[in-house]
Amino acid sequence: MQTYKNTTDSAFNWITIYKAANTLEANIVKGLIQAGGIECKVVGEMLQGALGEIPFDQAQVSIQVYAIKERHARQILVNYQQVKQSAPDWVCPNCNEHNGSTFDFCWSCETLKND
Ligand SMILES: [Zn+2]
Repeated sequence: MQTYKNTTDSAFNWITIYKAANTLEANIVKGLIQAGGIECKVVGEMLQGALGEIPFDQAQVSIQVYAIKERHARQILVNYQQVKQSAPDWVCPNCNEHNGSTFDFCWSCETLKND
């Protein structure tokens, strides 16, 4: 049996592991994945910025990781989605940015969350 596909190559294909509702959520997820030591990128961010307020289903932003990291990244996402359901988001008292509940520091100005 002969295989033409190089497994090393396919391990480094970018695959989508999460579709965020907006750029904010995409950046939260990206931060979590990167905090886990996984390289990732956000796809679709530019589109949303250019169009401003567009319908929810069209404002989708995808998070991509290397195929070889998919399993690890998905474990991080499971944790994220559990925390997201149990804790509210918060607004930074310093810069008024909206932060996800999983953030202890403001993603924008790094102010510590004030409970
Ligand atoms: Zn802030």
